Amino acid sequence: MSTDSWLGGAAAVATLTFDVDAESPVLAAGAHYAGHLMTMSHQSYGPDVGVPRILDMLDELGVPATFFVPGWVARHRPGLAASIVERGHEVAHHSYAHRAPTSMSDQEERDDFARAMDVFAAQGIEIQGHRAALWGARWQTPELVAEHGLRYDSSLMADDRPYRIATARGEIAELPVHWSLDDWEQYAFLPEPAIGTVIESPAKVLELLVRRAGRDAALRLPVQPVLPPVPLRPPRAAAGPAPARGARTGVRRRHVPALP
Ligand SMILES: [Zn+2]
Repeated sequence: MSTDSWLGGAAAVATLTFDVDAESPVLAAGAHYAGHLMTMSHQSYGPDVGVPRILDMLDELGVPATFFVPGWVARHRPGLAASIVERGHEVAHHSYAHRAPTSMSDQEERDDFARAMDVFAAQGIEIQGHRAALWGARWQTPELVAEHGLRYDSSLMADDRPYRIATARGEIAELPVHWSLDDWEQYAFLPEPAIGTVIESPAKVLELLVRRAGRDAALRLPVQPVLPPVPLRPPRAAAGPAPARGARTGVRRRHVPALP
């Protein structure tokens, strides 16, 4: 990894990222939602109406962005990922089926991750980054990101500046996220499945984002020529015996899968 500054000579760096989830989170909550026309129409608005408008807006502003797309979405809308790349933006990995890794076993997450990579490879889309569905990364997730040759993850919250994660399969960068910087929490609403229950005022959301942008290092990065490595360590209470000093890989914890 380069030791050059992330700032590239700029005073600050901001990233605009869009998660193009479409129907995938609802279908992950229950396959029967495919029969709910209202729900499906609600979920199709993002990729079919929102994304083209966002692409036009970004063209006008001359701003590049990253679109995190589940493999299922890319597969079922074959031209979508290519249309984003053709407009000069990045498409990144956002799981295959938009199931949180925390709801999967090690093998299920591994298979889901690879399945999405296969979809993007078949479409000629080069993938460099990953964001876990629902930001629900597990301790093995960064290792999977490295194993597939990706350069960064964007699911974690251990800092408000980019940081490095050392894994058994190599080092990746983490571009941290936070709930307060995501508009999903402000606007997500459906009677079912339960994706959120409050629709906030755009004025409140604007104030939240602007105030956060003014003070949050995630949007206004300080000069940091070399990113410090941050070893992964599971919490002691949840992970049993404390890992050996300097241990860099997470403890594997079993999760009961909740397949729709
Ligand atoms: Zn998502």
